[in-house]
Amino acid sequence: MPSPSLQEICAVFGSPVAGNPTQFMMEKAFVHHGLDWRYLTLEVTPEDLADAVRGMRAMGFRGANITKPHKVTVVELLDRLTDAAALMGAVNCITRDEHELVGENTDGKGFMQSLRGIVDPAGKRVVMFGAGGAARAIGVELALAGAASMEVVNRTAERGQQLVDLLNAKTQSPATLTVWQGEYRMPAGIDILINATSIGLNDPEARVPVKWTTAIERLVVADVVASPPDTRFLQEAKDRGATTVDGLGMIVHQAAIAFRLWTGIDPEINVLREAVEEFVAL
Ligand code: NDP
Repeated sequence: MPSPSLQEICAVFGSPVAGNPTQFMMEKAFVHHGLDWRYLTLEVTPEDLADAVRGMRAMGFRGANITKPHKVTVVELLDRLTDAAALMGAVNCITRDEHELVGENTDGKGFMQSLRGIVDPAGKRVVMFGAGGAARAIGVELALAGAASMEVVNRTAERGQQLVDLLNAKTQSPATLTVWQGEYRMPAGIDILINATSIGLNDPEARVPVKWTTAIERLVVADVVASPPDTRFLQEAKDRGATTVDGLGMIVHQAAIAFRLWTGIDPEINVLREAVEEFVAL
């Protein structure tokens, strides 16, 4: 474990990065665990990303988070990737191993830890809305965890098909695509329903177009949207008796995984959770 007397630096590279909830959580956790570390938010343009990663090496940053639009393009700037990040072809977290920069993806893992608090996805039938970065990370982790099947529901066929092809080629979980037109009619017999789109982000009235055609009392319904966490999608599911998992759990756990990778310390989850709740209330 690094000496707490060193002032270590982690950063987030993205655009825009102002008001980053992970920074808020990290700073609170550094203080809680007595670490004189800093977490910087650095706005980096696509043209400058390679220089930013070189700068990170030169200045000895302990790690970094990577946000949009750099999660895919950063891959070729790193020395190696973890297996899951290589499968996804996307990185949201860089760690240092001696002189090597290693790409990891903690989005899907954070979601899984949050979900596992409620249900083990092994053997479960999953429907997931979305096929963007978050959906890709979650889809790969669910497949690696042994989900029985995955129906990807996406508005844009091409993006949906890319995710389905990836899951079918690289994992044991069979995946199918439904192109989303109008209201999605819920099939009977599914176990887990996930909104991995950006519908609801900063818009509490935004509605995920789903027709709740079947009884859902035994369904687990999860949303990746963390702001606001009490999305209309989760409210509709709750009103019909489903068990729900909000996007705050995912954001807390992805931060916890990064904190552990960088510092070697298991962070106090309540500190992270309280920090992000304070952040979204601001
Ligand atoms: P992307 O831009 O990569 O993907 C967005 C996805 O949402 C696409 O599948 C897109 O469909 C779909 N979508 C957007 N608007 C609509 C709409 N009106 N109707 C139907 N589909 C729509 O974004 P990310 O995957 O990076 O992020 C998605 C969400 O996940 C965001 O809200 C983000 O904040 C959240 N997130 C949460 C995290 C957490 O820790 N809680 C971590 C990472 C992300 P199409 O392909 O057709 O455009």
